[in-house]
Amino acid sequence: MNHLKDSLIELITQTSTNLPPDVRAAMGLALEAETPNTQSSQALGIIATNIDMAHEDVGPICQDTGMPTFAVHTPISVNQIHVKRAIREAVAETTRRGKLRPNSVDSLTGKNSGDNLGEETPVIHFEQWEENEIEVKLILKGGGCENKNIQYSVPCELDHLGRADRNLEGVRKCILHAVWQAQGQGCAPGAVGVCIGSDRAHGYVLAKNQLFRTLDDVNSIPELAKLEAEVMDEANRIGVGAMGFGGKVSLIGCKIGVANRLPASYFVSVAYDCWAFRRLGVRLDASTGAITRWLYRDPNEAVQRMARAEGLPLTGREVVLTAPLSEEVVRSLRVGDVVLISGEVYTGRDAVHAYLMKNPPPVDLHGAVLYHCGPVMLKQGDGWVVKAAGPTTSSREEPYQATVIEKYGVRAVIGKGGMGAKTLAALKKSGAVYLNGIGGAAQFYARTVQEVLGVHLMDFGIPEAMWHLRVKDFAAIVTMDAHGNSLHADVERATGAKLAELQEV
Ligand code: SF4
Repeated sequence: MNHLKDSLIELITQTSTNLPPDVRAAMGLALEAETPNTQSSQALGIIATNIDMAHEDVGPICQDTGMPTFAVHTPISVNQIHVKRAIREAVAETTRRGKLRPNSVDSLTGKNSGDNLGEETPVIHFEQWEENEIEVKLILKGGGCENKNIQYSVPCELDHLGRADRNLEGVRKCILHAVWQAQGQGCAPGAVGVCIGSDRAHGYVLAKNQLFRTLDDVNSIPELAKLEAEVMDEANRIGVGAMGFGGKVSLIGCKIGVANRLPASYFVSVAYDCWAFRRLGVRLDASTGAITRWLYRDPNEAVQRMARAEGLPLTGREVVLTAPLSEEVVRSLRVGDVVLISGEVYTGRDAVHAYLMKNPPPVDLHGAVLYHCGPVMLKQGDGWVVKAAGPTTSSREEPYQATVIEKYGVRAVIGKGGMGAKTLAALKKSGAVYLNGIGGAAQFYARTVQEVLGVHLMDFGIPEAMWHLRVKDFAAIVTMDAHGNSLHADVERATGAKLAELQEV
């Protein structure tokens, strides 16, 4: 099996950097369907450019490369211990090469292992089969969308949709609710894998397994094929849109499986995946470990470019901001403004925010732009290079953000998915704004970084450290302003009303 590790390294690298053709096709349709010159179409334009950049540079499509999850089938003669060891070595090596972000954190100490190895990391599901080859499928699903997974114990009452009963009509309501509750926080447009039945724990596994089906796959069970088509149609009438900006395309795939259940339980488990739907697979020669065939992609077919134009189509109405920012400039911004930020920004996410609640910042944050981002960074000589740097889900910082803004004078927060009422009130009181970047556009934003000026709080690990960056023309949209307006609250209200229209069919 002397080729096994190299084959797995190639599988991980391709999965992280090259979106499979079925997802590209679905995103191409989303681009065509969206109304031109809307915020959603601008977001889709950046996403398309980012997909191309990731492929060209062999860089991570999104900086959050998720919990690597492998589904492996082996012939009876193959030693699964050897396969597991090779997977772990390949994961560590691709992390070292910057294809995966160091993402494995000890849940008790908070320490990042640095190589994506740790207790139950990566996730590997083995199964034997009667074929002669080994099959390895891999999915990389980041935390933003993973946090939007949801499980319903039916019957239940759902916001805007009323009661969901123990039948396919109830399942339909649960899935529509799942898409709605994700809003832009899971980097819409997304795809859902669904399991009807099973128990709580296995239901989630089976829901995620549905994401191994291609997006154009038609369910072999006619009732479920019909339900998948109905959900696709209805979910795309709710109006969540790309990044939750409001728009025509909210869902690019719905795949539903079914499993037996206990008489007392009826679970509908939903695995929500973002547009950066990274899933590939290989067949391997069982004696050498060499790749005999790719799944989901044909390496001999040229990869089609996604982008119709390069990056954000500029209108000339963009507001140019130079950080640090003054209160006057910030108070002049309104929801809907597109901004281009240049100057110094600091990254800060979960660990940094928790730290700032009890400790003074290691730098002066007055007028600062704070970027919710956990980048992929590689050490080169004495310096650092940014390999991927898109925004992370901001709602996780809601318990801290108002204090950080008011106490330290932060003027702008960049993230994705929006924040809540407490932060909105702090923006108004202190004169600050929330800027929504395009989630997952890790290569696009990495190219706006001109220089890594330094790093603080490195004890938290690479993604959680406070990186000091100089950026140029970092594009984002004002979605919460200093006048009490929130696009996120508006879209949530409007989509809730649309959802109510779908209560009964
Ligand atoms: S695209 Fe968004 S949800 Fe998906 S992994 Fe990246 S940051 Fe997370």
